[in-house]
Amino acid sequence: MFWCFHCYALNDQPRGPCVVCHQPVEPPDDLSRTDGLVWALRHPDGDRAVTAAKTLGMLHAREAVPALRVAAEFGPDIYVRAEALRSVIRIVGASPLRTWLEALAVTAPFNVRDIARSALEGRSC
Ligand SMILES: [Zn+2]
Repeated sequence: MFWCFHCYALNDQPRGPCVVCHQPVEPPDDLSRTDGLVWALRHPDGDRAVTAAKTLGMLHAREAVPALRVAAEFGPDIYVRAEALRSVIRIVGASPLRTWLEALAVTAPFNVRDIARSALEGRSC
């Protein structure tokens, strides 16, 4: 089975029109590694999304920060949200994120809240 690049639907074929959205199943030929990882942040397979979030942080992929922030705030599950937040903090540091972290420390699910609080207190997470 192959995941559609455009809508994440499962298809039997690796290339050609998606059975659901009719866009090409395959990713664009010039897709960068970072863009592929950003795509995986919204993957229906949560393990893949978590791994993508972690990898973007390890790569210090600054161009992925907007997508990581969206994943941290609105991600499909709390594990993706937590890992995306760790990576944003790892890439840009806690100081420039203070206002956002203060909001997450109040409104986010418990595990994301704890990471935001630790970062605000200068502890590693
Ligand atoms: Zn599709």
